[in-house]
Amino acid sequence: MSSIIKVFKFGGASVSSAEGVRNLAEVVKRYNQNLVIVVSAMGKTTNALEVVLAKYLEKDNSYTQNLDQLRNYHVNILSNLFQSNIEEQTQKIDLLFGEIENFIKSNKNTDYNYCYDQIVSYGELISTTIVSEYLNSVEIKNRWIDIRTCVKSDATYREGNIDYKRSDELSKATFSFTNNRIYLTQGFIAGTLFGTTTTLGREGSDYTAAIMANLLNAEDVTIWKDVEGVLNADPKIFKNTCKLDFVSYKEAIELSYCGAQIIHPKTIKPLQNKRIPLYVKSFLRSEADGTKILDSNESHQYPPILILRRNQRLISLTPRDFSFVIEDCLSQIFALLYKHRVKVNMIQTSAISFSFCVDEEKHFLPAAIDDLQKDFEVLYNEDAEMLTVRHYTEEVIKEQTSDRKIYVKQETRSTVRIVMKRSEQ
Ligand code: ASP
Ligand code: MG
Repeated sequence: MSSIIKVFKFGGASVSSAEGVRNLAEVVKRYNQNLVIVVSAMGKTTNALEVVLAKYLEKDNSYTQNLDQLRNYHVNILSNLFQSNIEEQTQKIDLLFGEIENFIKSNKNTDYNYCYDQIVSYGELISTTIVSEYLNSVEIKNRWIDIRTCVKSDATYREGNIDYKRSDELSKATFSFTNNRIYLTQGFIAGTLFGTTTTLGREGSDYTAAIMANLLNAEDVTIWKDVEGVLNADPKIFKNTCKLDFVSYKEAIELSYCGAQIIHPKTIKPLQNKRIPLYVKSFLRSEADGTKILDSNESHQYPPILILRRNQRLISLTPRDFSFVIEDCLSQIFALLYKHRVKVNMIQTSAISFSFCVDEEKHFLPAAIDDLQKDFEVLYNEDAEMLTVRHYTEEVIKEQTSDRKIYVKQETRSTVRIVMKRSEQ
């Protein structure tokens, strides 16, 4: 048996239907190396579970209807995939839905982040159960692993910090490849040492794939998508996009940090640390080259890369006592934002004002603003957009901003960042 290990990741969009799951099987069939397959929740399941959570916390019992819809969605996929044994397969799914109900009925802890992880994690547990059973049924023998027993994190719910030392021992023992060539497991979720579930941040399955590759010293990681690779802009928003054949780790980390949806921002570090290449490929054209993300010292010529973040709020703070916004004041602001887990997308300072841009969000932001109002006058602009253009040209900037109201513009040699608003019609 070859000792080469490859890690594959299939995101929610790629397993959102029975057809998607069949495609996944077709891709997997083409490889005879050892494989770790990391799978996300199907389609929009994570969003649907977030709604269940919100209703549960608001004591709105109609969450059961949302759970029923979600169950039907999965049972439909399952019925389409299996010719026989549908009942047996459905029971496995029902067991997992039953666990969600049990948690809701017995839980006493009202912490949003804790409850989030205990409920939302089921999206991945359900999807991997279906995909693993399906692959076995078409003779792609694989072993389903509960990743919570191998990838360990601290108890920072919704943003678990990985304990690499523990995870290393546990993962090497479980993913031993002695009796199995293919393992199938969940992205996005992990487990604490005392047995609770954590999640790793939205879109975190890429990150899981990178963690597994790091721990198991994989040869490479492939993220299978419904697009041909990493594009220079989102084709749903921008015209004339092109595929990037090569992206350096450094560029990839910058892009994902600016909000490029293509990979989770934390994905690169575990790969870079072991020089493991990352491929982004289309599962519809698996023989095509896709995009290769790798270390590079050579300066590479990139076309302009555009990243648009919508639903931004630009917040401006002025100290009530007119003190300068300098180190102590900045550290006070950041400590507060950190406490409320508000992520800052851009900052701008002047003598007595500090502006920053954040994603619109209704759980943490209002509390942070309340706290800030004690010492600062707080003003904000809602419905803003933040456009980042890396490797910009003047034409591109002009084209993108001509009919916009610009709030902030920052420019370096490689990057322009603009917070703006679409002009009112
Ligand atoms: N299912 C999770 C999410 O939608 C993780 C992922 O898709 O990577 O955020
Ligand atoms: Mg997803």
